[in-house]
Amino acid sequence: AQDCLRQIEAKAELNAFVHVDADLTLAQAREADAMLAAGRGNILTGLPIAHKDVFVTQGWRSTAGSNMLKHYTSPFDATVVHQLRAAGCVTLGKLNCDEFAMGSGNKHSAFGPTHNPWDTTAVPGGSSGASAAAVAAKLVIAATGTDTGGSVRQPAALCGVSGIKPTYGAVSRYGMIAYGSSLDQAGPIAASALDLVDLLDVMSGFDNKDSTSAEHCKGVPNAPGRIRAEFNSATANFSSDIAQPLKGLRIGVPKEFFGEGLSSDVALAIEAALKQFEKLGAQRVDISLPRTNLSIPAYYVIAPAEASSNLSRYDGVRYGHRSDSYSDLADMTARSRAEGFGAEVKRRILIGTYVLSHGYYDAYYLQAQRLRRMIVDDFQAALTQHCDVIMGPVTPTVAQPIHQNQNDPTADWLADIYTLGLNLAGLPGMSVPCGFGKGASGKPLPIGLQIIGNYFEEGRLLAVAHQYQ
Ligand code: GLN
Repeated sequence: AQDCLRQIEAKAELNAFVHVDADLTLAQAREADAMLAAGRGNILTGLPIAHKDVFVTQGWRSTAGSNMLKHYTSPFDATVVHQLRAAGCVTLGKLNCDEFAMGSGNKHSAFGPTHNPWDTTAVPGGSSGASAAAVAAKLVIAATGTDTGGSVRQPAALCGVSGIKPTYGAVSRYGMIAYGSSLDQAGPIAASALDLVDLLDVMSGFDNKDSTSAEHCKGVPNAPGRIRAEFNSATANFSSDIAQPLKGLRIGVPKEFFGEGLSSDVALAIEAALKQFEKLGAQRVDISLPRTNLSIPAYYVIAPAEASSNLSRYDGVRYGHRSDSYSDLADMTARSRAEGFGAEVKRRILIGTYVLSHGYYDAYYLQAQRLRRMIVDDFQAALTQHCDVIMGPVTPTVAQPIHQNQNDPTADWLADIYTLGLNLAGLPGMSVPCGFGKGASGKPLPIGLQIIGNYFEEGRLLAVAHQYQ
């Protein structure tokens, strides 16, 4: 823990941490030492980790990257935080992120941007950008992230580390500051799939404090040749199946993931990875996810709609920022929200309230929900009829310069094309490093391979990734 604290200080220019408290960390480290000395330790005891600042943590600040929660400290721990702590992980601090997890580059944080450790002029991805950057820069061994539309997989890809977004419901959302509740899911980020196995084992499981937590995960249809089709979130143990061979695995490659906008560097790296999988005994199958393009408009209606509802709780009354000067109650709420939220959050609230408003609800929100169902059907057709897993790029390009798209806020949204669909469908997906491409400044930057599976098949995804790594 002391070594990590030194590293965090030495790499302060990355702006990865929003809150470090050596006393709190060292107290946890001593507890971990005591657990180990008493023979109560496990593989995670003493592991230095850090949490994305959307997980509320007792004793630490919990800001969600927003001025709205700048001084907020939580009276309780998020379930994920609690589970990792109970296993003996040592918290090094709270990690920067896009405000309320809205963004793809960690550019929309009230505490300034986080920088990519491979090239500090580039973004680390987002919204869990600092989680991936902290792991890549070896400030911590692992970090938590959240993935509403790609925010674990995309920064993992752009920082050259591994990250998994579990099936919706596999990991508790209790104590995760909400963005889009039907999409949000927590996931770990670490160097390799093997590291993710142990973390996900501890993080996942039924939680009666989250009404969407999955209680019964057994009985998922089991097709022949599957590496692991069964996963009981209450007793999950992913490590038992990690060494399964890849022979006979059918890898679906959606043609829509290789269309316009994909850079040649990324396309080449993904092709090379697919060849490697074929060498390892897997079989490549061409598939189609015809509604891939439509996942962008569907997501950017549904996510802001849910966000506008979730963020209505920040009214300056119960918690969060309250303006110093106001005339009456309505004015206080208006001023507190105007001062507390950043531009990207305001943009999402405006879109969200618009698409939910009388007269536009049918035209936008309802249509987006219909599209969502069709996107689910596309994934199900592929994963039940044609292939066992789906592979493709995570992002169209390597990490972009921090100052790119500053005057075109929605341009970044288009780059989410390969990650949004599986959140809409609730499916698990992960990113593993698969090569390098050339960044804008000429430096080599990492590329990620995305592996998508059917519901509760995290074990299989991790096994597949492990064989490749
Ligand atoms: N980039 C997407 C958005 O801005 C996804 C963010 C996320 O997964 N938290 O909404």
